[in-house]
Formats: sequence, C-alpha cells, structure tokens
Amino acid sequence: MNRLPARHWAASFATLLAALLAGCATPPPTTSGGVPIDTSRSAKAQDSRVLFLILHYTVADLPISLKVLSEHEVSAHYVVSDEAPPRIFRLVDESRRAWHSGASAWKGHRMLNASSIGIEIVHPGFKPGPDGERIYQPFSEAQMQALIPLLQDIVQRHRIRPDRILGHGEVSPAYKEDPGPTFPWRRLAELGITPPWPDASRVAAQRERFEALLPDAAWFQRALAQHGYPVEPTGAMDEQTQRVLMNFQMRYRPENHDGLPDAETAALLHVLTHPLTPP
Ligand SMILES: [Zn+2]
Repeated sequence: MNRLPARHWAASFATLLAALLAGCATPPPTTSGGVPIDTSRSAKAQDSRVLFLILHYTVADLPISLKVLSEHEVSAHYVVSDEAPPRIFRLVDESRRAWHSGASAWKGHRMLNASSIGIEIVHPGFKPGPDGERIYQPFSEAQMQALIPLLQDIVQRHRIRPDRILGHGEVSPAYKEDPGPTFPWRRLAELGITPPWPDASRVAAQRERFEALLPDAAWFQRALAQHGYPVEPTGAMDEQTQRVLMNFQMRYRPENHDGLPDAETAALLHVLTHPLTPP
C-alpha cells in the first residue's frame, strides 16, 4: 500500500477538515429581530447550575416507572433499570429541570429540582414480612455497577461536591425515605464519591460520652440542621424530628432506623459535624 509522507497526510487532512467545516458552518445566532449575537467571547466566571445529585427508588417496576416518569407530572433525568444487565434511560436533558424532589431543602437551599440532577433506581423499596414488618430489598450488584459510573460522570460534568450527593429522604424527610436503608452509601463513601465515612474509633469515643448523658431534642435538631437536614428547631422530639433522624439513621446506621435518639446516633452526628479536616 502506498503511504503519503506524514506531513503531506497532515496537510491533506487539514484541507479536508477546513472544507468540511466551511461546508457545514452554522450561521452566527441572531435575535428574532435580526440583531446578531456575538459569541466570540466567553466569560471565565461561570459554573453549572447543578449543585445537587438526588437519588431515588421508584417502588414501581420498570414499565410503570417509565410510564409515570415520562407521562405524568413527575420525572427524573435518569432511570436505572432492574434488568440484567441494567439499562440507563435519560428522560430529561441535564441542562433542564426534572420534577423529582418537589418540597425539598438542604443547608438553606430550597426546592432542589432547579439545582439538581435526579436519578431514579428501579427498585421495590420494601416488601411486607410475615408480621407485617417492612423488609427492605437489596440493590443488585449489576445495578450498582451501572449506577456508580453514571454518578461519577455527572459529578465530573457539573463539579458536584461530595456532600451534595443525597437521598430523596434526606432532602424531603417529612414524606420520603428513598433510597432507603439498603442503599450502599458506605460504598460510595469508600469510592470517594461521597464524603468519608465517620471514623469508627471517633464514633466509639463519642458514643461513650453520649451514653453517660444523652443530648436533648434541641441538641439533635441543631446537629441535624448543621449537617444539612431540614428540621424545625422546636426543642421537642416531635414527629418531624424523628422522620429526619430515621432518614439519617437509614444512611449512616441502616441496621436500626427507628427514628429515636440514642447515643450511637448522637455520636455519628457529632463526628459528621466535626470533621478533622474541614471539607
Ligand atoms: Zn424519591
């Protein structure tokens, strides 16, 4: 086979490329009134509008999830199916708002649909056990293998901070609890996607302190709010506080998420709100 010398090849390629570009060059944008919009300069001071990444489970199966999320008044940017292997559907472009976390808040940010990407994982949530108790179902390894690179890609595209990757139940604790206590948050922490997991020896030391004297409701409300949860500082261990505690426990101590204050929950909260190296 005849080979062109490299520099000839490069020159022909450049000519071809220039011809192609000239052929399909898009005209400069104008307003509908015909005034041209010059896009030759681009500002250095800009970033993505996406600040949060919110994870959900659907409870419904794939056909119902896709129907509801594409045809009703709710949606998500992505749906991760429960098939083998899983498929990932994109229902809303990342530049647009999906309707997945209506009444939601985190650290003073409110109504997070405008500033988040939402991912729905097709998952049944829980099934009733023999005594009517909730048996939360595991997430399949295949689903996690599909989800993790999706998370990493989105985080990288929008430079989302690790502490802003949250569960729906964390930002809407009054009425939500997905992705539930079986979602492997610890694995995401160990992969560096979410902040480091609370250090076990620090938690043990704090637990001893709190076992001697359990903090009151106001302390829990202050600590939960400091971490980011939307909680009213009523000074009472009321239902809204227990819902927040339950969601906190589902993430950080999933084996017991009864929503009641205890020394271990206090210790986990203390360690998370007093990081040795501030984020
Ligand atoms: Zn949800």
